[in-house]
Amino acid sequence: MSAWQVHALKYAQRNSRTRADSFIFDDNHDAPHAMDYFIWVLRRGKEVILVDTGYDTDEATSRDRPILRDPRDALAGVGLKAEDITQLIVTHLHYDHAGGLHLFPNATIHLQEAEMAYATGPCMCHDTLKMPFTADHVCEAVKRVYQGRCVFYDGDGEVAEGVTVHCLGGHSRGLQAVRVRTEAGWLCLASDASHYYENMFENKPFPIVVDLENMLDGFVRLHKLASDRSLIIPGHDPLVTTLFPREGPDYCWRLDRGPDGKFTL
Ligand SMILES: [Zn+2]
Ligand SMILES: [Zn+2]
Repeated sequence: MSAWQVHALKYAQRNSRTRADSFIFDDNHDAPHAMDYFIWVLRRGKEVILVDTGYDTDEATSRDRPILRDPRDALAGVGLKAEDITQLIVTHLHYDHAGGLHLFPNATIHLQEAEMAYATGPCMCHDTLKMPFTADHVCEAVKRVYQGRCVFYDGDGEVAEGVTVHCLGGHSRGLQAVRVRTEAGWLCLASDASHYYENMFENKPFPIVVDLENMLDGFVRLHKLASDRSLIIPGHDPLVTTLFPREGPDYCWRLDRGPDGKFTL
């Protein structure tokens, strides 16, 4: 079978952060550390799979975290309509990954059992663990279950030929990475299994974590899922936008051919 194309679409950024927000135990904790927000599009001929939804302007307002563009507009720029999205992998249910579920009414969602159990279970009684979730987004996922449009996975699973999901946990109980066969080899969308290259390459945990051991094991697993370390794509690292070639609109980067030039990280 032929290879998949993978594009990263940037929909938001947050610059008023420090390294303490990105790494536990960082010596340089006061230094600024920006974060980018992406959704990812997998394409092969007429097949389209969306990975994560981003969030909309209502969520942006309630969290005071503005977005650069509505996820639907981001998709329109690459020739896709939200209504036409029928397959949607949700890496986890945090607001910035599942906050646009309602924008994709025709999508079947692909989710780990552990993530649904976590987001609807007793852990959500703790404010610290609940913080990255929004009840409406979780309810939207529950509705998909009742509509018969949720495919659950327990660990590893195949979404389509050449596209598999792998539960790594750590940052969220049922966080799944997405492995995609591309022209350059097996590419792995880490999502928040590693927000930045530095998390996984330097074994530096991210502060939002439910199971630290799973997070550290996840860093190791990511290296096994991708054909090369240059093909592990962190979930929020602005470096992705400088390492990979831009294609189409100014917020879109092509990932499936690997980074431009030599990868030295
Ligand atoms: Zn997250
Ligand atoms: Zn995230």
